[in-house]
Amino acid sequence: MYYIGLDVGGMSTKGALFNKKGEILERGTLKTIADQDYKVFVNRLKDLCLDMLQKQKLIEKDLLGIGMAIPGSIDTKKGIITYSNNIKFKNVPIVKEMQKYFNVPIKIGNDANLAVLGEMYFGSAKNYNDIVFITLGTGIGTGIISDKKLILGKAGAGAEGGHSVIRLNGEPCTCGRKGCWESYGSATALIKQTKVAVDKYPNSILADIAKKEGTINGKTAFDAERLGDAVGKKVVKKYLRYVGEGLVNLVNIFRPEIVLIGGGISNEGDALMKRIQRFVNRYSYGGENKTKVLVKKAELKNDAGIYGCLALFLED
Ligand SMILES: [Zn+2]
Repeated sequence: MYYIGLDVGGMSTKGALFNKKGEILERGTLKTIADQDYKVFVNRLKDLCLDMLQKQKLIEKDLLGIGMAIPGSIDTKKGIITYSNNIKFKNVPIVKEMQKYFNVPIKIGNDANLAVLGEMYFGSAKNYNDIVFITLGTGIGTGIISDKKLILGKAGAGAEGGHSVIRLNGEPCTCGRKGCWESYGSATALIKQTKVAVDKYPNSILADIAKKEGTINGKTAFDAERLGDAVGKKVVKKYLRYVGEGLVNLVNIFRPEIVLIGGGISNEGDALMKRIQRFVNRYSYGGENKTKVLVKKAELKNDAGIYGCLALFLED
């Protein structure tokens, strides 16, 4: 028997067809179009599912369930996307709509929540009970597991660590507040910070790289730093401080055994993990004899969300 996981992102939606062992048999993607009528969107999701089934010569009856990871506030019990600033959906009864096409159990969850669930069942956080997971991507997603249980909050609207303020009257955030952690610590924020530095120091190695590549991304400042550029080094140092401060806030509240870092920025790998580890060691609460919080790269990378969709069915 088989399951489908759908990870709805701001830009694209990824699908995976799993067998019972949790192996991915088939993959598919479609472009997420924000502002699209949700019924049109669900219709396209249906096509994506059918396409994956057909490619494996399967039919709807072979399916045991469909899980969906969606950004924003997700009411998992009612099956409703309450609010999503990324895909511009409000009060969308997505489970009911999907059930028009598929007569199987359909479960939904917030993407970061499902990513941490996926990591707990299939990835870097196996055998851990207390986990904080952050994704440094377009925004900052946070998923928290305390004593093996996902923290969801009322109507699934909790665990939005990216929208805690780290600077009063700071950069405006898409959520309406100013100075949110994600406005400083996301990949989007790093790109902005890099752009400012490129304009300010046009003769730096950093500016050279940006010119050569014709674009600035989340890697640019790290690349410049690796080449010994003082400007790149300064940008990265400040950015990691933003990441670290927000992360230590979460560590102090939830005291995980392990912190997992995912999202595009985590591709910087072990060197980056070590620096964040040092920051957490130094600044997390608890004096000299505090228990150490392990910082690790999230193993499942972009697949954490779809594995989390499968994990929803293992939770029962
Ligand atoms: Zn915010």
